[in-house]
Amino acid sequence: MKLVFATNNPHKLQEVSSILKGKVDIISLDDVHCHEEIPETADTLEGNALLKADYIHKHYHLNCFADDTGLEIEALNNEPGVYSARYAGAEKNPEANMLKVLQQLKNQSNRKARFRTVIALIMDGKTYLFEGIINGTITKDKQGNAGFGYDPIFMPEGYEHTFAELGEEVKNKISHRSIAIKKLCEFLNSIQPR
Ligand code: IMP
Repeated sequence: MKLVFATNNPHKLQEVSSILKGKVDIISLDDVHCHEEIPETADTLEGNALLKADYIHKHYHLNCFADDTGLEIEALNNEPGVYSARYAGAEKNPEANMLKVLQQLKNQSNRKARFRTVIALIMDGKTYLFEGIINGTITKDKQGNAGFGYDPIFMPEGYEHTFAELGEEVKNKISHRSIAIKKLCEFLNSIQPR
């Protein structure tokens, strides 16, 4: 089965391709020669995932899925949430974003946070949503170099290292995205048993 993954993020493409390896052929936006800016203007993760999947489906007439992820920090009323990429400004700079989070939580003892991923799948004209959540805490400093985004300051529950220290293999087993992808995968298997 072939599915377009509507993302321009090479890290996510790699992560998701490795999770779905052997089950689904992931086609990138590059593969379908889509180089336009896909709208991401909704104010919820669900809305943005749907906007992106819908765009590819309408313009390229292909089955596809898109994800949107946010870091939701309890003490900040679930911010940055849907604005995670541009929390510190339109440049979408991960270093500046992490710095802003660490500063906002400077004197805060409640450091609970979660990553939440929503996947929207459009298949044969029907739309489906899948959600993945991982709970954890925000560390006091950056730790580790692997991964991307907020990985160096997010420590998943039950671990003593950040995503950036745990590395790709461990992260891919437990992450918000992998939980949502597993749900997508179970759904795909249920409609097309292998
Ligand atoms: P996106 O909309 O799914 O690309 O995610 C929005 C932003 O959330 C990204 O730019 C990252 O800053 C952050 N993010 C998403 N997924 C992850 C992750 O797995 N680790 C760390 N940060 C992430």
